[in-house]
Amino acid sequence: MSGVGKGVTTASIGKILQSRGLTVTAIKIDPYVNVDAGTMNPVEHGEVFVTDDGDETDQDMGNYERFLDVDLTSTNYMTTGRVYQTVIERERNLEYKGRCVQVVPHIPQEVIDRIRRAAANAKADVTMVEIGGTVGEYENILFLEAARMMHLADPENVQFMLVSYLPVPAHLGEMKTKPTQHACRTLNSAGIHPDFIVCRGQYYMDEPRRTKLSVFCNVKPEDVISAPDVDSIYKIPAVFEEQGLSDTILKKFGIKPKKADMAKWEAMSEVQEKATKTVKIGVVGKYFATGEYTLSDSYISVIEALKSASWANKTAIELKWINSEDFEKDSSALSQLSEYDGILVPGGFGTRGIEGVISTVRYCRENNVPYFGICYGMQLACVEFARNVLGKEAAHTVEVDEQTQDPIIHVNPMQLENIKENRYGGTMRLGAYDCDLVKGSVAAAAYGKKSVSERHRHRYEFNNDYRDEIEEKGMIVSGVNPQTNLVEIVEIKDHPFFVGVQFHPEFKSRPLRPHPIFKAFIKAALEKK
Ligand code: GLN
Repeated sequence: MSGVGKGVTTASIGKILQSRGLTVTAIKIDPYVNVDAGTMNPVEHGEVFVTDDGDETDQDMGNYERFLDVDLTSTNYMTTGRVYQTVIERERNLEYKGRCVQVVPHIPQEVIDRIRRAAANAKADVTMVEIGGTVGEYENILFLEAARMMHLADPENVQFMLVSYLPVPAHLGEMKTKPTQHACRTLNSAGIHPDFIVCRGQYYMDEPRRTKLSVFCNVKPEDVISAPDVDSIYKIPAVFEEQGLSDTILKKFGIKPKKADMAKWEAMSEVQEKATKTVKIGVVGKYFATGEYTLSDSYISVIEALKSASWANKTAIELKWINSEDFEKDSSALSQLSEYDGILVPGGFGTRGIEGVISTVRYCRENNVPYFGICYGMQLACVEFARNVLGKEAAHTVEVDEQTQDPIIHVNPMQLENIKENRYGGTMRLGAYDCDLVKGSVAAAAYGKKSVSERHRHRYEFNNDYRDEIEEKGMIVSGVNPQTNLVEIVEIKDHPFFVGVQFHPEFKSRPLRPHPIFKAFIKAALEKK
């Protein structure tokens, strides 16, 4: 089922294989008809993860990048929509040379071609492929068919893993294997026999159950792998290694591996419980009314970047979600922000909760609370500055107020065309762009570089007509795109930490290489504390 942990399982297995000296890449297959994740609501589908080459993908791609510390590309992601789109385009271009184009074999063949292309692109020894969805549903049948065909053509080089959930009903207090037995049968009926069964559940599995699953599912006992709940996802590779998983996989592939070295990774995964200090960060935005669960999925890369940056500072982190709409109802609630060591406003879209965010920015600016604004969080910091420092009371982003007298955040002409013609899919400013840093700025000091590349996902931009005015009043532009002159980073001088970035730095943060601006933000938060 969705949410069972296939993404983290895929990433973790990739990680342990990588630690044995192999080059690993990973592919996510999303069974949706959407061409990409960019048009899906993050509250329902989770974060939209952006690659360097500008693809809007599933949040699992972020897990792969974080665990494997590699940059993936759009070849590593596919959806049903994307696969059909290619096959139909090729048919229109007469590439099938007059043959009848059929769901089988042409759709699975396109899936296989994509898998092979991604593997070749990454020069990978091992390619992890995660098929989303649940066995037995219509949506992913053609992807299972592709997997079956790959195995048929090359049985020595394809292994299957079934990731299943073993419930522990409260009234029984006992882990049940029956759903997994049925899942295995369903997979068998698609012509696939799992080499491994990864058993997600509250606890480690005991021997009687392992034996039962082994017998009923026709899998050796040592190939039934426990994947219990743990307090940090970064501990899962170690959980798998305890059970000798990389050895077994490599033996089946006939590969002689090196010894594993996971010391740094394991130390990182333990900082949270071992640290003697804690930094308290508030994340302010909308979406937050829907409950913690959806939330953490919508902003997973931001959360992971904050954690990694704290851990790199040998500090545990306490994260709190703050709904900006609360400040719209009652502005005295703003004073609760002083309890935090730092406030982060992540990316977002639309009107809801916006005035509450702007009040948050003002509070942080005036009360010296470290502030980190990402994308919308940067744009709204500019709106606040224009209103309350430049005295332009009506200043706004045209995303919220099209007619504003002072469009400090506006839409660039290219985007105007897209909006007019309802071209919303894949048309934002997407993917990696260069950013030149201004000497002496907080950003330049954090990066320790003159120029960087960061990933974007937005339609609106800072309006350069206002650049001189904000700079005169103490908000400096510290990062600019050299090709277009677009403003990428703003900062406030004479503030402990006030940085807004137009890009999404969270997408490039890695557990063992946390993002420099996140690190600087946490450092400033600790200093405030
Ligand atoms: N809504 C803003 C824009 O489209 C910001 C987007 C974001 O935060 N990712 O420009």
